[in-house]
Amino acid sequence: MLNKKVLDEMNNQVQRELDSAYLYLSMAAYFETKSLPGFAQWMHIQFQEEQAHAFKFFHFINDRGEKVVLQALNAPTNDFKSPLDVFEQTLAHEEKVSAYINDIFALATAEKEFSSFPLLQWFIDEQVEEEKNAGEIVDTLKMIGDDNSALLMLDRELAQRTLPAEAQPGGGV
Ligand code: MG
Repeated sequence: MLNKKVLDEMNNQVQRELDSAYLYLSMAAYFETKSLPGFAQWMHIQFQEEQAHAFKFFHFINDRGEKVVLQALNAPTNDFKSPLDVFEQTLAHEEKVSAYINDIFALATAEKEFSSFPLLQWFIDEQVEEEKNAGEIVDTLKMIGDDNSALLMLDRELAQRTLPAEAQPGGGV
């Protein structure tokens, strides 16, 4: 069993991770319309990673003998002004997710729900990575400015992104 308050917050986090997935799918659609397939690919991978994050909580709740209660997803924004705007929104979104993960860790600590610590520590590390990745692309896009050939070079680089093995369906989550 799980502490009820921690369980409720984990169920909320399943929804938030799927909301994140939905937001990144919306960003992928934006890049498709801009004919930037590498940026779109990066967002498609991000979409799949967020689903894997939701499944991490989903499986943990089940493993502890509790029930996942799915909630309605929020409609993501479709309002993007530029690639830089998209990645600034990505960074801001991930900072918000990090704050939620920190809150769940603080709650689990207060409620002495020690069984959740390894999972939550994984998410704390993952959020460091998420903020770093988005922040680096924000910095690169600021350097690029209005240079379209540099933008196309970045598009080719982002096209290289692949889904990590552990985020593959059935792969360790
Ligand atoms: Mg996530």
